[in-house]
Amino acid sequence: MTTAPLLTPVTGTLHALQVPIPYPMKYVTVLIDAPAHGPVTMIDTALDTPEARQAIEDGLAALGLHWEGIDRVIITHHHPDHYGLAGVVEERSGARVHMLDVEIGRGERYWHLWEEWLPGHLKFMRDHGLPAESLASMGADNRRGRDRVHPASAVQPLREGQSVELAGSEWEVLWLPGHADGHLGLWNEHESLLIAGDAILPRISPNVGLYAYTRPDPLGDYLQTLGKLELLNPDRAVVGHHGPVMTGVQARARELRAHHHERLDFIRAEVARRPGDAYALSLAMFPRDLNMSGRRFALAETLAHAEHLRLLGGVYRTWDETREVWVYHG
Ligand SMILES: [Zn+2]
Ligand SMILES: [Zn+2]
Repeated sequence: MTTAPLLTPVTGTLHALQVPIPYPMKYVTVLIDAPAHGPVTMIDTALDTPEARQAIEDGLAALGLHWEGIDRVIITHHHPDHYGLAGVVEERSGARVHMLDVEIGRGERYWHLWEEWLPGHLKFMRDHGLPAESLASMGADNRRGRDRVHPASAVQPLREGQSVELAGSEWEVLWLPGHADGHLGLWNEHESLLIAGDAILPRISPNVGLYAYTRPDPLGDYLQTLGKLELLNPDRAVVGHHGPVMTGVQARARELRAHHHERLDFIRAEVARRPGDAYALSLAMFPRDLNMSGRRFALAETLAHAEHLRLLGGVYRTWDETREVWVYHG
């Protein structure tokens, strides 16, 4: 049984398709632009599951297209729910796959050089207090997720400030780091319309995590991105989840900034009261019951906040020789 594809017209020939993903957000937005003349473009590709492939096929068919007709793929960021099918589209259609230049190396390291990178990743998490049982499951969890991701064999760079033609208009390439180091946005000034990916989301706070392979201050990056979005003040934004289209971006950016400042205040107060490693801080900041993968996200998010404070001089850290962990102090 096929159901009608969840296809929303965005502007002109550009459509947003809601594609199911096996995550709590339920759907990811895949954009399809099918102009009468000019390249057929797909923006983001979802994670490889039979349901996602079917939804994309149905969406393409509703626009009179099929996989083979795609000429160009643009990826907002390298996370599995956005990048998963990029290699499949590339193979089936010969489409050129594009990402922001900053993101290409990260995607490459994460998806192609995982085995090389994993030990450094594990050491980083252990140095910040992640318990042994969580470390042990981390490699296996990650390998499982990787079956659903087919990285592209060649990725072409897009650069901040460059212009891209889509739906008959010119869109400016934006760099919106924080949730991912090389997160790309596309800005149509004429229509005050932003393709935002996960840089801003209406219902959840986009995860901002520090890992061994990220830029050193992802929260600092993200606070700047929020400032940029506030100034840009788009009428509408196409978002990666809980969309496909949201309004009120400026107010949401302010709300998210206040949310991160609250967390920074929390950490400052917590370490002043009782020095601790980032994992202990993450248990205090996210006291609710989380599974192991949830706890790792919580650690990475806490670390992004703790390191942002440290780089600003608000807290400092020392190496505990006995426990072999970094301890944060106020
Ligand atoms: Zn993401
Ligand atoms: Zn996402």
